[in-house]
Amino acid sequence: MRRAVLFVALALLLGCPEPEPEPVRPPPEDPGPWAVVGLAVSDAVINQGVEIPLWRNSAPVTTARKAPVIAGRPALVRLGLLPAEGWVRRDVLVEFTVVQADGSEATRQTVLEIDDAPVDFTDPEVSLNFELPASEMQVGTRIRATFWETARWEIPVLEGEPAAWPPDGTSEPLLPTDHGGVLRVDIVPIRYDFDGSGRMPDISPEQLLVLEEAMLGRYPAREVILEVRDGIAVDYEYDRGGEAMGATLSTLRDLRPSLDIAWDTYLYGMINPDETYGAFCNLGCTAGIGYRPTNPMNEGLRVGVGLGFAGPETGYVMAHEVGHGHDRGHAPCGGAANTDDDYPYAGGGIGVAGWDVISGEHIDPNGTADVMGYCQPEWVSDYTFEALHQRMAALEGLRDHVEDRSDGELWTAIDVIGGATTRWAPRAMVFEPEGEPIAVGLLDGAGRRIGKVSGWFVGMTHIDGGTVFVRGDLPGDVADVVIP
Ligand SMILES: [Zn+2]
Repeated sequence: MRRAVLFVALALLLGCPEPEPEPVRPPPEDPGPWAVVGLAVSDAVINQGVEIPLWRNSAPVTTARKAPVIAGRPALVRLGLLPAEGWVRRDVLVEFTVVQADGSEATRQTVLEIDDAPVDFTDPEVSLNFELPASEMQVGTRIRATFWETARWEIPVLEGEPAAWPPDGTSEPLLPTDHGGVLRVDIVPIRYDFDGSGRMPDISPEQLLVLEEAMLGRYPAREVILEVRDGIAVDYEYDRGGEAMGATLSTLRDLRPSLDIAWDTYLYGMINPDETYGAFCNLGCTAGIGYRPTNPMNEGLRVGVGLGFAGPETGYVMAHEVGHGHDRGHAPCGGAANTDDDYPYAGGGIGVAGWDVISGEHIDPNGTADVMGYCQPEWVSDYTFEALHQRMAALEGLRDHVEDRSDGELWTAIDVIGGATTRWAPRAMVFEPEGEPIAVGLLDGAGRRIGKVSGWFVGMTHIDGGTVFVRGDLPGDVADVVIP
């Protein structure tokens, strides 16, 4: 539509060199429908957060998809069109049909004015867009498009087959998967007592909805389940550096085994150490912290802490920290350390067009950074979306296996934050060795070395620190430890 208006404006400007042939509508004789001839679908993409090509340059894409299509999650399908030589500008009725595995079909129609230029699938304003609600995205769902004249025009007859996509009259499989579509995050509100304020994070229903929508937009999920747990309090000072947040992370990690919490659930603390996000973060801050467990069996490391102010930032921070919990490193943007060497896009960009399943907003791949970097505005890349899906599906697949598992063994977790070791105590927990093997020196009350044990160091994100996991208890006469 916009293109046609532009053409008319240009024609006026240039003094109308040659009138465009206008379709003429003769009196109807044949009741129709009249199939369109001379129009091809050049490109087709599906988007549930990140764009996945289905057809390119009038042929099916045969390379492996870079991201999953999730059953039970809304989708946007965009088509690009290529009119044949001699096409005359006119309205076309497009019929879009969703075919389910049981053979049931649902059809919707739209009328699009098509001039003699290609319809660009990359421009959401001009491309042919169809949305599929979550209920229509099922395992086995296929789609097709057919094209019909809106009247019997008097126009040159073009050679060819009736326009359809796929052109052979079949339907295109979307291949939705129903594996790994549920994400659970349990929120622990943390009361900030250091400044005497007793300030609580925002866990109002409105803010929980902001968080849920931020997570649902960026994660390959059909459902995000947030649950608010009993709170805890901290009485130590939070500065912007994040070491205090690291201490709180340790507390949540130690708390987790005593909670009745599902194995695949992420435990996430939220805290407001100042009045507003801006007041705490304007000069730079550690907004969140977590672990990056490589082994999905290590449920004890599915913990994180982040700021809990009202507003969208809290949602980005949660998506980022829970992303680390899915074994995501940093996308290279904004000076983030511990970057993911395999990250495929320069500057930590998202690489492909985004689409927010909640708001319907189109997200430009240019100038948008991945949620796992430090840059704004952010969204999710197809690379991160796929990796999140892999971890979510792995947890779902492993769940049966862990149901028969015991509560774990005795492990001592020694936190090393800012170069100093903190308290330790043995706890029954599940930890399968991962991270860096290191030797831990044991000291007595007089500072004399009385032995050493082996442990595994797992870093905390965003700070100089982490946790050494040592099997069993430390000997009773150990008063301090030395970590290399
Ligand atoms: Zn991070």
